[in-house]
Amino acid sequence: MFDKILIANRGEIALRVIRACREMGIASVAVHSTADSDAMHVRMADESVCIGPNSSTESYLKVSQIIAACEVTGAQAIHPGYGFLSENAAFVQALEDHDIAFIGPSAEHIRMMGDKITAKETAKALGIPVVPGSAGGVADFETARSVAEEMGFPVIIKATAGGGGRGMKVATSLDDLEVAFRTARSEAKSNFGNDEVYIEKYLQKPRHIEIQVFGDGKGRGVHLGERDCSLQRRHQKVFEEAPGPSISPSERERIGTICANAIAKLGYSGAGTIEFLYEDGEFYFIEMNTRLQVEHPVTEAIYGVDLVRQQIMVAAGLGMEFTQEDLHINGHSIEVRINAEHVPNFSPCPGKITAFHSPGGLGVRMDSALYTGYKIPPYYDSLIGKLIVHGRDRTEALARLHRALGELIVDGVDTTVPLFEALLAEPDIQSGNYSIHWLEHWLKRTYG
Ligand code: ADP
Repeated sequence: MFDKILIANRGEIALRVIRACREMGIASVAVHSTADSDAMHVRMADESVCIGPNSSTESYLKVSQIIAACEVTGAQAIHPGYGFLSENAAFVQALEDHDIAFIGPSAEHIRMMGDKITAKETAKALGIPVVPGSAGGVADFETARSVAEEMGFPVIIKATAGGGGRGMKVATSLDDLEVAFRTARSEAKSNFGNDEVYIEKYLQKPRHIEIQVFGDGKGRGVHLGERDCSLQRRHQKVFEEAPGPSISPSERERIGTICANAIAKLGYSGAGTIEFLYEDGEFYFIEMNTRLQVEHPVTEAIYGVDLVRQQIMVAAGLGMEFTQEDLHINGHSIEVRINAEHVPNFSPCPGKITAFHSPGGLGVRMDSALYTGYKIPPYYDSLIGKLIVHGRDRTEALARLHRALGELIVDGVDTTVPLFEALLAEPDIQSGNYSIHWLEHWLKRTYG
């Protein structure tokens, strides 16, 4: 086992990893930008190293600085968290060259899944059902037109190198296909440095269902059921739950087994998430994330496993501590993402926290790096906390979420808490009846 792990991240996810390390008797090293000198992850880690100025390209994304921090502190492994360098194959390669272990999959698997076209082809070859769409990239408008006409409208144009819900354009008819196609390409070029796009059938009212998988890198693969992340704003998740309200045990077993077998066949190592759109009883692969997800705690709650601990075990070559037969669902869990944003326009709201009180009690978990007096810097993501609840069933989880939101105090900045309070009063949320478009429609209806 490693003696010391460096965490190449910040905020709540850095704390999450530090906590797992501490329980395993592993020393932790935090890295930080100058803006984050007083951040909670720096205070909580055993050691810390300043790796650069405010801008994340000069700090959290600076590979040479992170490797130097490992060398100075003697850390043997790096946990990347999510975002930043977590899905950067060149980073993983660089660590290999420096004999530093990466707590995550191989550079090859990251590369394979990072390119969405290759990912889809790989998924198909592994027996995973995929969304109908173009065979590979679409280079010009003429091809786009013939693909779209053959498939039928609406279609969605997506950047091969896309991520984070960006670089997607929907065309409802031939009339708007040309504009959508050209905009998608130019946005792909400016956001991801690669203008390749592909086309998929646009599903009208699907749910976003993702399967948590785990591989030991030696041919064993398991699944830990699904998460429903259909409540999205601008293709970004805001509310996640497990198990999915629309998924039956037999459907879970069917798609879960397909995913676990695929992971085993790939020889995949560590945690991964295979994302699907789900409509009328059918699953359609959209992408695979080769890292820990923001919403992993809902899976931890219902399966009673520490996913970060398992990532570390696998990276250290010790394998997973469970088999598929050990994994059973207990109850229901919901996570809401609390952002420092002003509702309803969701503009970022950095600033000083004048009071912070975390909710507690049975079945409540608050993953947050906030403290009273902390100043949220304007340079990074606006996620300031995740409130996760666990109940015997969905009704109890919803009641607990309502109760916990009432206990939470975050003063000094605006947060997305009022959004969740309003959502909990909605009959569709109470019954679990929502597709990926539900929230956008509701926002429009409610706030105009
Ligand atoms: P990203 O990597 O940017 O997150 P994804 O491919 O995972 O992109 O898609 C993100 C979201 O976009 C999905 O959860 C869904 O809401 C929407 N989306 C993606 N593909 C389709 C599709 N074919 N039809 C309808 N909605 C889609």
